[in-house]
Amino acid sequence: MKYYSSRNRNISVSFGDAVALGLAPDGGLFWPEQIPSCKIPVADLNHLERTERISRLLFPFVEESFSFSKFSQIIEKVFSFPLERVKLDERLSIVELFHGPTLAFKDFGARFLAQTLAELPQAKQRQCVILVATSGDTGSAVAHAFSEIPGIKTVILYPSGKVSPIQELQLTTFEGSIQALEVQGTFDDCQALVKQAFQDTVLTSQFFLSSANSINIARLLPQSVYYMETAMQQSANGNETVFITPSGNLGNLTAGLLGRAILKADWQFVAALNRNNVFQEFLETAMFQPRASVETYSNAMDVGNPSNLERIRTLFPAEGHAAIPVAAHSCNDEETLLAIQELYSKFQYLADPHTAVAYQAYKAASKKIGDKQYHILSTAHPVKFDSVIQKALGITPEVPDRLKDILLRQKKSIVLKPDYHIFKETLLQVVGN
Ligand SMILES: *Cc1c(COP(=O)(O)O)cnc(C)c1O
Repeated sequence: MKYYSSRNRNISVSFGDAVALGLAPDGGLFWPEQIPSCKIPVADLNHLERTERISRLLFPFVEESFSFSKFSQIIEKVFSFPLERVKLDERLSIVELFHGPTLAFKDFGARFLAQTLAELPQAKQRQCVILVATSGDTGSAVAHAFSEIPGIKTVILYPSGKVSPIQELQLTTFEGSIQALEVQGTFDDCQALVKQAFQDTVLTSQFFLSSANSINIARLLPQSVYYMETAMQQSANGNETVFITPSGNLGNLTAGLLGRAILKADWQFVAALNRNNVFQEFLETAMFQPRASVETYSNAMDVGNPSNLERIRTLFPAEGHAAIPVAAHSCNDEETLLAIQELYSKFQYLADPHTAVAYQAYKAASKKIGDKQYHILSTAHPVKFDSVIQKALGITPEVPDRLKDILLRQKKSIVLKPDYHIFKETLLQVVGN
């Protein structure tokens, strides 16, 4: 299986190179040349143990790089936490993707990237350094995933005072190979420093630098799994599956479309958006007009130029936008608060703001689509967005046990000005010893 660039079919690389490069040399996104459909009947897959089942579903994507037994070991480490499905009524359930170590669905992608990258020869020739700029969730998922891998050093840049207190503790309380840099500036300053480092030949000749970026194909592949697992669990009751995916950069939605192709299923999708709704415009008008993002309560979806649209278009090349089995619905902050309130009063379900946006999309879409099995993907634990929950309900979500320990630890960070020379010197000190 080779991967090509979404901008040029003639650029074609192995899985290992696609992961090591992150982005294609022409700026495109890597995508598999064919999607290997699963030959095993769903009933038989259901009888397999989880690691075996997931390994078989994904192995065709990586078989040039790993033996099946090595890949199964990787899968066992990546999927070390459960999916939970909460049934709200006869036709609606919530699939909780946040039972991983950092309480966000980004754990799936970050862990798969870390475990596969660690095994690739590309990352073994020089000291491997992960450089990640974060506004919150991504940094903690990536840092946690790489903290389990000996030999790799991770440096996280975050904007001082601009992440929530829990998020800051999640970024700054690691031991050993993870170093947090607290930049006295904005998220954009952090990102600019990381970008400049990647163009610095002094650094790139000495180290294998990777950004663990969300467009890396290794972050996307494992996300197809929870769609397939959810649909397979309920295939006995008919196949009328609709997934509602809280969407920003459209990685999660693209992974759902990939899972649909692997199983040759006929699921439908609803992309749930906040006021950053260029993707809805695209579906309705075939015009794609990226713009600057606006801030909302569901801030992990504040994306004005969703990069994975390139992959979605690659999946449906001939048919055009009308063939994409996705509807979209968007809502504003006030409606997000109302959804949190309604989920709590009607179902006693405490949802984070991204899940709440998906509930509004469910209500709108189900009026048109009718009687089906609806699954809302819940992308984060409510405690990560406790100030929005406080606004909606006047209560503070309880901190889950596995996070309580972090609250007792001491924050450790190096504070620096957003200046490239200071950053580079600090970086060389941190990764040099
Ligand atoms: C990243 C994120 C999203 C958006 O996912 P995309 O793959 O970028 O569409 C939604 N919800 C939460 C909580 C996230 O962290």
